[in-house]
Amino acid sequence: MRVNRVVGVKMDRRILEKIEKVVGKEGYSVDPAVLYTYGFDASIYHNNPDVVVRPKTTEQVSEIMKIANEEKIPVTPRGGGTGLCGSAVPIKGGIVLSMQQMKKIKEVSVADLWVDVEAGVIYEELNKELAKYGFFFPPSPGSGEACTIGGMVANNASGMRAVKYGATRDAVLGMTFVKADGEIVRSGTRTIKDSSGYQLARLMCGSEGQLGVVTEVTLKLTTKPMYAASCICAFDDVTDAGKCIANLIARPLIPASCEIMDSLSISAVNKARGNPLPDTNSLIIVEVDGESQEIVDRDLKIVEEVAKASKATSVVASHDKAEIAKWTDARKSVMTSLSALKPGFVSVSLADDMGVPVSKVPAAIKAFREIADRHDVIVATYGHASDGNLHTKMMVDPYSRENWERGMAAVGEIFDKCIELGGTVTGEHGVGIAKALDFKKERASNIKTYREIKRAMDPNNILNPGKTFDFEGDPLAGLRYPCQECQ
Ligand SMILES: Cc1cc2nc3c(=O)[nH]c(=O)nc-3n(C[C@H](O)[C@H](O)[C@H](O)COP(=O)(O)OP(=O)(O)OC[C@H]3O[C@@H](n4cnc5c(N)ncnc54)[C@H](O)[C@@H]3O)c2cc1C
Repeated sequence: MRVNRVVGVKMDRRILEKIEKVVGKEGYSVDPAVLYTYGFDASIYHNNPDVVVRPKTTEQVSEIMKIANEEKIPVTPRGGGTGLCGSAVPIKGGIVLSMQQMKKIKEVSVADLWVDVEAGVIYEELNKELAKYGFFFPPSPGSGEACTIGGMVANNASGMRAVKYGATRDAVLGMTFVKADGEIVRSGTRTIKDSSGYQLARLMCGSEGQLGVVTEVTLKLTTKPMYAASCICAFDDVTDAGKCIANLIARPLIPASCEIMDSLSISAVNKARGNPLPDTNSLIIVEVDGESQEIVDRDLKIVEEVAKASKATSVVASHDKAEIAKWTDARKSVMTSLSALKPGFVSVSLADDMGVPVSKVPAAIKAFREIADRHDVIVATYGHASDGNLHTKMMVDPYSRENWERGMAAVGEIFDKCIELGGTVTGEHGVGIAKALDFKKERASNIKTYREIKRAMDPNNILNPGKTFDFEGDPLAGLRYPCQECQ
């Protein structure tokens, strides 16, 4: 039953003329092919918008928001469309506001440690520019070649390096955003420290396009470490791999990154990519970095020692950039490789991203496996385990409602377990549609306050409505997959 969709707003000529006055003929589209394309992100969902608008300035965003607010048209801001939970899918139709035309890196001030960017700048494009000065913006999402700074802010994205360098919100000094009624707000500062009033820029981090449209962001710069090396450690038991990570941090050693992969993830990558990884039950890939070769060598030795003491069956350290890149690429390819594992099944983002305290990683992985076996579903676990952020991808026959439902039942239990372990249903991908029901359980005591904030900033509920705490209905409605029984 489709309960969480409405027929799109009728985009009559009068409204389109108003939009055209702001962005010109080239700045919007109602071409069915364009509408179809902008109905997707990288999640399992799809729904067409009624118009795609591509503003080039904060002022244009403001004017478009004024029209939308007056006409009560839903607006879904969109960056690279790489979100995995349906956050950028316009489930109520209306306007998709594509921010990709706002892609200027406006100013870099290395002495003050900030960079000003427009929201549509692609993560890796920014880092290419910052590398010229010896700096970087560290979150490192796996989607860095395509995701935008605005989307990263809206999802508080991060990635492999969060354990040492933090998530997006940790680097946000300030931003310009446009409220639902078109008001332009400049929040935060260009200073490293700021205790001046409510931290509105922080409030926007993780707001998933529901509180305002981010148009410009001031980010704090981090110096790029001069030296790095990696170590790949194999284990016979994935819980030992998990324990090894907790032992490393407790040593204490904060790695630059530490990725875990279970047996299914390893088999999938080895099958799809010609065996780049050791044939083992589970593994971790640990990267250490620093300002001198001595520091890196010292830390690498500690990793080797701790891994051996934590029952690693083999430990291979490397300074060779090509070899390290091979391991990193292999880890990054888990999501796509999984679909090669079983003919007729695809890897989908159902319970794709959760966080638990690092010491609970072994218990979480064990529980996920037990839950998957009990529901007879295939679940691979991997992720940025040194910050407790795990990813689980589920293999589903996309034509079978029964298969999707079994998956959903397992997902519910997986998230319940994460909450029980003191964790969260999303470490970095956000809530969107896919995690809305579990998020409402996790943050039950926050929902009233969320609604009050939303009402204050968007009284007509036009900004990305029907998602996160506002989601009602069937999370299996509106799938992008050809499951007739799900429609
Ligand atoms: C292969 C792959 C790997 C990934 N790996 C990671 C990872 O390692 N870490 C991680 O955190 N995520 C990862 N992701 C998920 C995704 O890339 C991130 O969540 C990313 O931040 C989304 O950015 P985007 O520009 O694509 O945003 P979109 O998908 O376009 O939008 C995401 C949300 O942000 C809102 N939004 C976008 N731009 C704005 C704006 N200017 N103002 C207000 N709201 C806005 C949208 O409305 C939506 O709610 C991965 C995705 C893929 C496909």
